[in-house]
Amino acid sequence: MKENNRRQFLKSLAGLSSLAASAVPAISVAAGRSAKVQDIRLSSNKDYVRLVFDLNTVAEHSVFSLHNPERVVLDIKNARMSHGLVDQVQANSLIRSIRSGVRNGNDLRVVFDLSSDVTPRSFLLAPSGQSGHRLVLDLHNKNKSARVKKSAKRDVIIAIDAGHGGKDPGATGRAGTHEKQITLQIAKRLEKTINQQRGMKAVLVRKNDRFMRLRDRIHKARDHHADMMISLHADSFPDPRARGSSVYALSVDGASSETARMLAEKENAADLLFGDVNLSVQDQMVKEVLFDLSLTGTIESSLDIGSEILHQIKSVNRVHKKKVQQAGFAVLKAPNIPSILIETAFISNPREEKNLRSASHQKKVAKAITRGVNKYFARKAPPGTWLASAEAEYRVNEGDDIKTIANNYKINENDLRARNALFANSLVAGQVLKIPVS
Ligand SMILES: [Zn+2]
Repeated sequence: MKENNRRQFLKSLAGLSSLAASAVPAISVAAGRSAKVQDIRLSSNKDYVRLVFDLNTVAEHSVFSLHNPERVVLDIKNARMSHGLVDQVQANSLIRSIRSGVRNGNDLRVVFDLSSDVTPRSFLLAPSGQSGHRLVLDLHNKNKSARVKKSAKRDVIIAIDAGHGGKDPGATGRAGTHEKQITLQIAKRLEKTINQQRGMKAVLVRKNDRFMRLRDRIHKARDHHADMMISLHADSFPDPRARGSSVYALSVDGASSETARMLAEKENAADLLFGDVNLSVQDQMVKEVLFDLSLTGTIESSLDIGSEILHQIKSVNRVHKKKVQQAGFAVLKAPNIPSILIETAFISNPREEKNLRSASHQKKVAKAITRGVNKYFARKAPPGTWLASAEAEYRVNEGDDIKTIANNYKINENDLRARNALFANSLVAGQVLKIPVS
């Protein structure tokens, strides 16, 4: 932490105690047995987001806010919560993420990362009817009018991970091309094409030729609140005839998490875990990336994204495997960021190596991936994003064209295309278009 930031951090901490006392009535209860959070439920309406913590007994708690970035911290005295419970709470347009940890040995701290400034209110509810003890936390949005504004609809964030880097060159082609170079070049082109799309924002995990640990790559994507992570690689095989692109996602079957963790600590973990997957043995990093992605991947979403991208890549390059490949092993942690790994081509194949180096081919690959990403998010954008927004639906009539429909709704033609992932000019009668929020 930089000196400046540290000072600011300390300053904000100093202001906390008074804020907590004045803004939120902390409810005092007699200290009893240790409380357990059994469930967290979330609901939202126009004015606030409500979180209900189901407890097995009464508990003392306090709430305070932190700013830049906006956070609300909930401390529950002498309480605990099973790991992964916060991961089950769906993020929404206000709550970006929820973290929890143990404080002072047996207190529970829950931190809400927020997209805007809120006034928190909290209270306890005694058991009634079917319900037991409850702690209710309401987050009132201070800037209510901002939510309906254009800027309130956030972009979906795509983390682009250029494989290898620095002391780890990855695979090397016959002409001497290093995998780490072409993954970075394609990553930068992909960043550009994605950022040209309304409602999408790309973040490069690695911006230059440097070595990065896998864990740090995932953390970087998390820090940016990525909705998707795309890891770029180039394949390699002893037989120079091997060619084509492949897309990998993960499967849920396989070893238990404990076994998988132990295997990960061993050198041969990747071989054991990927023994049934046709991966070139040389690319240790691919295996490790796949292994690590398992910590964060939402399998079904990953497969869905993967097949959209694979479908688009078909127009640019032959595909090595017709389906999204899955590596079979346990998901170690609650799903978080859907992630896929793309082997763009075989760097060990002289013709594909030449393609991989070519600027025009790299652009085509970047565009194909962008189309796939857009196709996916046009259907499944997270709530609160511009790509999930729709003011109306329009059923296409015979003879309609995109431009006229956009004009009729007074929206930008490109916005209409982006929202519906329309790449061609032709529309099909009966097709339903989402009319985005302008
Ligand atoms: Zn690689």
